[in-house]
Formats: sequence, C-alpha cells, structure tokens
Amino acid sequence: MKLVTRAQLGWPASAAPAQASTKGVKVHYEGSPVSTKLLSDHDACIAEWKAIRKSHLANTKENYSDIAYNYGACPHGYLLEGRGIGKRTGANGNQDLNKAHYAIVGLIGSEGLTEPNDAMLGAIRDGIELLRQHGAGTEIKGHRDGYATACPGPKLYAWVQKGAPRPAGTVTQPTKPSTPAKPKVSLAHIVYAARRDPAAAQGHTSYKAEVLTVEKALKAEGLLASSYVDGSFGTKTVAAYARWQRSPAGGGYVGDGADGIPGAASLKRLAAKHGFQVVT
Ligand SMILES: [Zn+2]
Ligand SMILES: [Zn+2]
Repeated sequence: MKLVTRAQLGWPASAAPAQASTKGVKVHYEGSPVSTKLLSDHDACIAEWKAIRKSHLANTKENYSDIAYNYGACPHGYLLEGRGIGKRTGANGNQDLNKAHYAIVGLIGSEGLTEPNDAMLGAIRDGIELLRQHGAGTEIKGHRDGYATACPGPKLYAWVQKGAPRPAGTVTQPTKPSTPAKPKVSLAHIVYAARRDPAAAQGHTSYKAEVLTVEKALKAEGLLASSYVDGSFGTKTVAAYARWQRSPAGGGYVGDGADGIPGAASLKRLAAKHGFQVVT
C-alpha cells in the first residue's frame, strides 16, 4: 500500500466526528470533470486532492469540518488520506448514510478522466482493506446505493457490483507485520572482544551489543550465569563459550578447538539455535 498521510499533505488532525464502526465502505467518483493530466503527473493528483478539501471546507451549505471522504485513490496507486480511520464521512448524502458506511473516492469524474485504471482500483481496494482492519464491515457499495446520484459513475459502479476485486498485479497490503531482521554478529568483533575483554579492566566492553547477543544465547544454553550477561566477553564468558565448543551441539571440539575463542563453525551453530546471524 502506498499511503499519502495527512501529515505529508500538511493537514492538521481531522475535526470530523468519530465513527468506530460501519457496515462497510461506499465508493465515489468526483462527479465533476477531472483532467486527464492526472494520468501523467502525480503532483496533479496531490493538487486535486488538496483542491477537493479546500472546496469542501468552503462549502457553507454542508458545513463540512474537513474533506468529506475517508480516503481518495489516484491513478498511480496512491491511497490519499482524507478523514482517515475512525472518522465519520460526510460524503454519503445524509447522516444516517454517513454513519452506515465509510467513503473512498476514485479521482475520476464525469468528463476527461472517467475510467479508473488498475492502479486506482488497487488503491481503493487497499483503502477498503485498511478500513476493514479498523471497524468497517464487509459491505462494498456505491454512493448511488440508497441515494439519488450518478456517483460513482458507470465504470466504478460496475466494479463495485462485482465485489470490487483487486486487479491482478496490484500488491496486496500486508496484514501481518513483517518479522524483524535477525540481529547480526560479526565473527571478527566477537573474536576481538574474546581476546581483549578478559585482560582489560573489569566490565570492559568492545562490541557490547554483539557480545550481549552471544551471551544471551550462552545463558539460554545453561552455560553462563545471567549475572555475566553484561556485554563484556570476560573470563566467565570465555569459559562458557569453551563449554559450548565442547558440547555436541557446539561441535564437540576438544583441546585447542575448545579454547573459548569463537570460531565461525561453533558461532554459526549457536546463531542457528538462537536466532542471530553471523557475519564473517
Ligand atoms: Zn459520491
Ligand atoms: Zn497520482
């Protein structure tokens, strides 16, 4: 999802009334002529969106507190924040209709740019899915459903009646946060710390964050007391690492191979078990 936020638009927080849930989303078009210039100039989309808000704020008859729509969608696949999440729309025709559905407008109109492209449909779909994650029900309707208007025009309405399917090739919004990257530990840094820290002053640290990652893994293996998980690769940590090297899981090293100074193979075994990454 490519979202343009109110902050990016330079708009203050919406003063629209709160609306925690709805039956779903209604789709709109602008109704008036829209320039085909939008197709080749995203700056024109942003200018159009700002002009819509300006005209709504100037509309004394409706007395809008903000742009009427929750979101807009441009032909470059951007979802443009209007009132946004948790706000009642002012676009559906009357208060009962506004309470029943949120509103998303495609930046097309009655003349000029009249057909939504796949990128715009994908952005409207992004908006529907985003609102569904924040209180919108599953209904997808057009402005004309329940209100006397041509909106959202024949093309968008035909799409709405098909259930507003996401066009092939437009990216689905990820619903789960991506898994965080594994912490990276440099073998060279850890070897440096294991040689430097034991002889240095008590509590000396060389590459503290990376050493902590290794020490936490050694503690989880039951090889290092938590009081020594301090980011300093001191004598206790060296001894604990030697125990890891001697253990079957650590490689079963003997003699000099289990000297407590990490090698690539034993450190990678520890990393694989405890969710970090070794950089060599
Ligand atoms: Zn409408
Ligand atoms: Zn655009």
